[in-house]
Amino acid sequence: AADGVPGRVRVAVRLRPRNEEELHADADFADCVELQAELKRLKLRKNNWEADTYEFDEVFTEFASQKRVYEVVAKPVVESVLDGYNGTVMAYGQTGTGKTFTLGKLGDDDTSARGIMVRAMEDILVDISPETDSVSVSYLQLYMEAIQDLLDPANDNISIVEDPKTGDVSLPGATLVEIRDQQSFVELLRIGEAHRIAANTKLNTESSRSHALLMVHIKRSVGRDDAVSSEVDDSSHLVKPSKPIVRRSKLVLVDLAGSERVHKSGSEGHMLEEAKYINLSLSALGKCINALAENSSHVPVRDSKLTRLLKDSFGGSARTSLIVTIGPSPRHRGETTSTILFGQRAM
Ligand code: ADP
Ligand code: MG
Repeated sequence: AADGVPGRVRVAVRLRPRNEEELHADADFADCVELQAELKRLKLRKNNWEADTYEFDEVFTEFASQKRVYEVVAKPVVESVLDGYNGTVMAYGQTGTGKTFTLGKLGDDDTSARGIMVRAMEDILVDISPETDSVSVSYLQLYMEAIQDLLDPANDNISIVEDPKTGDVSLPGATLVEIRDQQSFVELLRIGEAHRIAANTKLNTESSRSHALLMVHIKRSVGRDDAVSSEVDDSSHLVKPSKPIVRRSKLVLVDLAGSERVHKSGSEGHMLEEAKYINLSLSALGKCINALAENSSHVPVRDSKLTRLLKDSFGGSARTSLIVTIGPSPRHRGETTSTILFGQRAM
């Protein structure tokens, strides 16, 4: 997608460094991908002789820092949200490839490891004025088409409400917490994550089987509407007070469920059921971003709760970035290929 064109999705790919197991098990194998970061290209090896080449808006090698990934992919989105537009950053990929690392890492004892959520809030809090503006967040999990409140575990079936006039989506049932400082935000993320683990234990599932969405609502006062008072006839001596103009925008950060295919053999009914829902929402998401890429006037948001939740993020003046995360191991070539193709279709 062209740089800076609103309504289109910018797509970056990020390669995770080899983990301990891959360093040993695959020591004799060549990685299945080769990155040419300066050219924004990725080569995917098919065998020893052949490779397919793909281009992305950004290509991050295993050496790319969290800071750089934030600055290149998320910061422009955050800045546009501070200017009053809606923005979204999503991470898509197989479980274990770095989605949560990229988005949700808190970096308590190593600030350089902090992920996009923490860095975005830091930039937001620096920019807004506490006297006139406000920032509040909700933190949700979407599991098998049910929306659960990660800030209030009792609240496990939130409904989506659409404004019949504007079409804007809202979640009146979701906890909304006003954020005044970075410390309390990080604490909130920690609480949300703890609730997520507890909820998933109860549901007998794993975090990788659900989507996590952090919604940051920004309300800014952008001067006063003087038109109201200037229209008043001078002779009337009526001075109506001008109305403050409030501008609202929303930043959504989405840690998507693992994109891996669940194989029929060996999986229980429950796992297949989960897989069906994940597949439904990820393919609905794919269709929406393809529609944007093709400049289609119809974006099919109705097909899943995930896309209904992200409705404000698609098209119009909204900015969206997608980070697809991959691992280096040739053992996962199939999953890596389908992740890369998902990213390619979004461009
Ligand atoms: P996912 O959320 O996609 O399942 P994680 O973010 O949990 O994956 O990452 C899996 C493991 O790999 C974690 O231990 C994480 O710390 C590590 N990891 C992922 N990406 C990176 C990276 N870019 N640099 C260093 N470690 C990483
Ligand atoms: Mg994760």
